[in-house]
Amino acid sequence: MKCDKCKRETEKAFLVSEGSVCPDCCEEIVKRGNSLVEELANEPLDQAPEEMDVAAFHRWTLKLAVQTLQALSPTLRARMLKRNPVMLYPYDLACHLNGLILDCMSRDEFKSRKTGQRKGQFWFGKRVKFASVKRAAFEARVITDLRKTH
Ligand SMILES: [Zn+2]
Repeated sequence: MKCDKCKRETEKAFLVSEGSVCPDCCEEIVKRGNSLVEELANEPLDQAPEEMDVAAFHRWTLKLAVQTLQALSPTLRARMLKRNPVMLYPYDLACHLNGLILDCMSRDEFKSRKTGQRKGQFWFGKRVKFASVKRAAFEARVITDLRKTH
């Protein structure tokens, strides 16, 4: 089969958000993901474009996920490891947070094919104000929870 990224023939393929990729491309994607996580860990949570497109929204919820995980107490981390270990991965936690935040946003601010906690694909008709994303995050208690874990 062919790698979706470099288009070279590959025997082994890994399923990532970009499609099925060869081991080399997979490694590169994981590295890139890790350096983004590192970058976000040191960035103020309040830093984001005033008007967000979907990419900016994803970047911010990933930052929220990264910093939430950083702030987890050992007790809470152990509890999560038992109950919901997948939530200890920043990208999975971010996906979960997306759903919680979107649930607290008004229905005309975004469009999605599915409802419920995992929104699946969603998109914005027009850019969404960072202020209203923050308000939704407070309502969803994902920001308060961040403070409580300290
Ligand atoms: Zn490749």
